[in-house]
Amino acid sequence: MNSQATPDRPVRRTLLRAGLTGAAALGTGLALGTSPAAAASPTTRPRPDTPGAALRELAAGNRRWRTFREQHPDETPATRQALVSGQHPFAVILGCIDSRVPPELVFDQGLGDLMTVRSAGEVLDEAVLGSIAYGVLELGIPLVLVLGHQSCGAVRAAVEAEESGAQLPAHIQYLADQIRPNIDHTKEGDARIDATIDANVRAVRARLAAEPDLAAKVAGGELAVVGARYELSSWRVHRLAD
Ligand SMILES: [Zn+2]
Repeated sequence: MNSQATPDRPVRRTLLRAGLTGAAALGTGLALGTSPAAAASPTTRPRPDTPGAALRELAAGNRRWRTFREQHPDETPATRQALVSGQHPFAVILGCIDSRVPPELVFDQGLGDLMTVRSAGEVLDEAVLGSIAYGVLELGIPLVLVLGHQSCGAVRAAVEAEESGAQLPAHIQYLADQIRPNIDHTKEGDARIDATIDANVRAVRARLAAEPDLAAKVAGGELAVVGARYELSSWRVHRLAD
């Protein structure tokens, strides 16, 4: 696997650092949906290189998405050409496979912006963990966002399988087995499914944050691992408390 760590990377990072405020805003800037939109053209807009800046850009993009003001950044011929020589995505999004929650759309991002890893119910396995680690450790991405969503079919299937005792077909049972420990038994019916969506995001986030290599970067302020949820009904992404 080529790390794509091209020679221009140090230059880019130096240039960007001058225009960013660093991680100082972490305490207040993490609430998705509270930040101004990033300006500038797709080829010149600043590339977030801190956890706080990455969260602000995602928040701005989701605001554009949910207010029908998408910019569809980083799709131009110039951007496509520039990306031939390497990639510098600013966030890893671990999301569900659900066709209604494509990260590039709900965060209004384009080519080279997001490294997306998707599995039903954001379930982790070695391939998912390795993919996320690659983004963080090899590409220096400052943010991992675990994105659950309203009406997640994978979570519903896991809850219903536990309640019925039925065996799910083929490899789908694996997904249910991974989600089952996160089922919120304090709730019943649809409320249980909804609460488990959040609990599952929190559990996945916590497991990622506890990975030693990632935890070291979090401790050093180079990385944030954040849980969030997308509402199908309002198109809004909001952060889930750890
Ligand atoms: Zn889902």
